[in-house]
Amino acid sequence: MRMRKTAAAGAVAIALAATATACGGESGTPGDKSAGAKVFTGTYPVASGVKLDSPTLKRAQERKKLVIGAKADQPFLGFQNTDGKRTGFDIEIAKMIAADLGFAENQIEFQTVDSNVRETSISKGQVDFFVGTYTINEERKKQVGFAGPYYTAGADLLVRKDETTITGPTSLKGKKVCSIVGSTPLQEIKKPKYGAVTTELAKYSQCVTQLIDKQVDAVTTDDAILKGYAAERPKKLKVLDKPFTKEPYGVGLNKDDKALRLAITEAIEKHIKNGDYKKAYEGTLGKSGSAYVAPQTPLPRD
Ligand code: GLU
Repeated sequence: MRMRKTAAAGAVAIALAATATACGGESGTPGDKSAGAKVFTGTYPVASGVKLDSPTLKRAQERKKLVIGAKADQPFLGFQNTDGKRTGFDIEIAKMIAADLGFAENQIEFQTVDSNVRETSISKGQVDFFVGTYTINEERKKQVGFAGPYYTAGADLLVRKDETTITGPTSLKGKKVCSIVGSTPLQEIKKPKYGAVTTELAKYSQCVTQLIDKQVDAVTTDDAILKGYAAERPKKLKVLDKPFTKEPYGVGLNKDDKALRLAITEAIEKHIKNGDYKKAYEGTLGKSGSAYVAPQTPLPRD
């Protein structure tokens, strides 16, 4: 009985701490309302009468809704406000593609898909396609198709502002580094040459909370993601800005749906050419300090 009471009191303390930090500002838990409010959201002309030999698109047209997988806790990239609104660079890319496929924003159903379930979610058809800091690589290509790359990031390190001992990936020996199950930066940082002790969680925002709470010494993932967290808490966090991998972002889709892949490829190219892409970048990723990396067009078609 005594033990139970103690456990309950502990739970209350944790809940209170969570409430206290969820109110935003410098001490806010990642996922507060602030990030979504200051980023650009665009609308794009919606194509009509789109006909494609794509089983995925046909299903979406029948249900009159496009289901797009996205991230929800990456400020300036793929973020969901407490009121449910989605913002960020990846969300804009998703909306541009949707418009070219004939779907307005109110005909999109975004579904949050974490890194470790992306392949399953796409290959099982739980989403029509996925846009969320998704690195194109050969391993993943065995299970899913990719259109792109539409942006290139690189794995980097997020540390507390007063950190002096971690200066780059070669200074991680014995350090606690948090990353995400199913992500490429986690695979990289687990290599024995770094000597890091990893904490492996499902969401990046959980890693950031652990970093602020000093349970880990660093968080690793793409610089584009980390800069979003640092921009929200500039007095507490910093990105080392020493990228040590290349992470080309693609739109993930059903491996066999060649027509959809081509249509998404052409949509991305069109919005790069007409300036929508740059505008979206400037209003989202550009605000958190990520460099403009002009995508190479034409994009690969094979
Ligand atoms: N771009 C990396 C990946 O696809 C890390 C970001 C993420 O987990 O979404 O694994």
